[in-house]
Amino acid sequence: MGLRPNLLTRRTAGVATSTLALLLSTAAVGVVPAASAFSAAPAGVCAEPADAHADARVAKGGHAKLDPNHLTAKQVRDREADLAAAQRERANFRTGAVTPLATVTIPVVVHVIQENSTRAGGNIPDSLITQQISVLNQAYAGSTGGAATAFSFQLSKINRVTNPSWYPIVQGSSAERSMKTSLRTGGKNTLNMYLGELSDGLLGWATFPKRTLDKMDGVVVLGESLPGGTATNYNQGDTGTHEIGHWLNLYHTFQGGCSGSGDSVSDTPAEASPAYECPTGRDTCSTTGKDPITNFMDYTYDSCMYQFTAGQASRMLTAWNAYRAA
Ligand SMILES: [Zn+2]
Repeated sequence: MGLRPNLLTRRTAGVATSTLALLLSTAAVGVVPAASAFSAAPAGVCAEPADAHADARVAKGGHAKLDPNHLTAKQVRDREADLAAAQRERANFRTGAVTPLATVTIPVVVHVIQENSTRAGGNIPDSLITQQISVLNQAYAGSTGGAATAFSFQLSKINRVTNPSWYPIVQGSSAERSMKTSLRTGGKNTLNMYLGELSDGLLGWATFPKRTLDKMDGVVVLGESLPGGTATNYNQGDTGTHEIGHWLNLYHTFQGGCSGSGDSVSDTPAEASPAYECPTGRDTCSTTGKDPITNFMDYTYDSCMYQFTAGQASRMLTAWNAYRAA
């Protein structure tokens, strides 16, 4: 598969992380198109800028402009309250012999949105999709260096759709709604992944879980971010890993900055702001622990991120049993 060779080398052979960071910085030329105009994302949607490094050259404070979708403190409070309510609801439902799941296999339906039959027109080959599923299974099993989670992924269908009016996929547009309303399949436990060219230089976006089935539910991922794609520095499949983390109720590691409950996970050190590229040793909060730049829920290069924590694994399983389990 040739997945993450640099990471495996680093972890098994003990190559200094600073060496990796240096190599990455040297290679860090903004190949992914810089984001342009960003519209505000609807609440509960996470959208990822493709390459904030390029934007950061433009003006200080550009990151905030690039990040329309950080949840506000109130949105986080509301989501946490809803999770507690969903758990209570399920607990009442489960007065019988039904027990929460400990392991989960998620059926994945991949919708390939194409403008035409060319690769540039969105025709991502099946081989990249199967590699993406492998990357997800490695990441969520903890085999790239993080905690093992309860989740594995099984490709159930590749659905190819040629429709120029849905291409590129524009976040928050009526075309996105039309696309998802037409294509989304399965119950709350089915992961619908939409691949294509994306608006505004974004790498992807996701919906958080809800108590009711919503046709907008799913993840949208830049097709060329799949393993072996052309999105330099973002082509090892971890945009998918990251967006599915949101779909399973994870926040960014930098949610809330240095204060408060942060990402609502206790074993991810607080982080003042997103980390980009691979800034080894970054430490932006006075609280214990360096920034979790290697966490899948930060914004670093794919080659830099390789782990979920035990706390994140637990949070995802809790959310699954509250929201998505049948
Ligand atoms: Zn995100």
